[in-house]
Amino acid sequence: MCIKKARLIFTDVYYIGREVGVVRVRITLACTECKQRNYNMTKEKKNHPDRMETKKYCRFCRTHTLHKETK
Ligand SMILES: [Zn+2]
Repeated sequence: MCIKKARLIFTDVYYIGREVGVVRVRITLACTECKQRNYNMTKEKKNHPDRMETKKYCRFCRTHTLHKETK
């Protein structure tokens, strides 16, 4: 009885998880200073619906610069 109920709840959660879905998309981060594409990574579209901007080390500029998401 107890196990049956737990399994039912688990199934429901799993179903909801599949419905919502965590969509990870591959993105490329390019240095805004020298335009070099330095990083390949994935992001969750749900958390970052817009273009990502993050400070990362650029080996061409040899310093931390702002990197923006490109296609
Ligand atoms: Zn750079």
